Amino acid sequence: MPAGRFYIEGVALVEGAEVALPDAVAHQARDVLRLAPGETLRLLDGAGGEYPAELVTVERRRVIVRVGAREEGRAEEAVRVVLCQGMLKAAKFEWVLQKCTELGVAAFVPLLCERAVAAAEEAREAKRRRWERIMVEAMEQCGGTRLPVVSEPRPLLHALASLPAGGLALIPWEEEQTATLRAALLAARAASPELREVRLFIGPEGGFAAGEVALARRQGAIPVTLGPRILRAETAAVVAAALALEGLRALDASH
Ligand code: SAH
Repeated sequence: MPAGRFYIEGVALVEGAEVALPDAVAHQARDVLRLAPGETLRLLDGAGGEYPAELVTVERRRVIVRVGAREEGRAEEAVRVVLCQGMLKAAKFEWVLQKCTELGVAAFVPLLCERAVAAAEEAREAKRRRWERIMVEAMEQCGGTRLPVVSEPRPLLHALASLPAGGLALIPWEEEQTATLRAALLAARAASPELREVRLFIGPEGGFAAGEVALARRQGAIPVTLGPRILRAETAAVVAAALALEGLRALDASH
């Protein structure tokens, strides 16, 4: 199934409509998967919708499909998990984007931190397109239907202060020894059943400075441990995202 799922950008997906597939997707369907008229693939709108689509015309210049009824993505989470990640070198950040999209992270916020080794280059268009390609491919292959967004790099304080109502901020910190991510989720859900978003703050390669952790605490973020070992920033990001998503599913299941 995963090979035939495609994110379609800039084309309205309406049940019954016949639409021409964008060139890259047409190429995949025609030349790579070698699909014929009558066969189906699945189109994703990136906003939670998945549509079966039957091939009507397969030609060199155009591939046309008839769009079926919208199905709600089944692999989406009720609570948004947002990863606020201290700036990393490009290759590591891209790895984090790919893995965390697979896991189900809804949005990424690059953080400007004291010890960030990567300079905060402004996110140029080419880089953004590359990030989007990575997330699109991850979403297509993992069964997801919501395309995450990456915001502009912003200061830690900004990312802390903009936490929406019903949001929980967790800051995995290697010097925290007792508070676990699971316990923080349980406590938050007990305090307010309307938990809507969990924001995870992961440091850059050099970690957060003590002052940054203190600042986060003052803004209501809860330091948590990911275990006794010091993980690399990108490992910590994936582990924290997995623990948060799994913890939230476990909370839901126990209701
Ligand atoms: N200050 C450190 C390690 C930084 S690790 C040093 O350079 O020695 C990078 C980030 O990963 C940290 O800021 C933290 O958010 C996260 N992290 C790594 N290991 C962790 C652990 N055991 N518990 C919680 N967070 C951890």
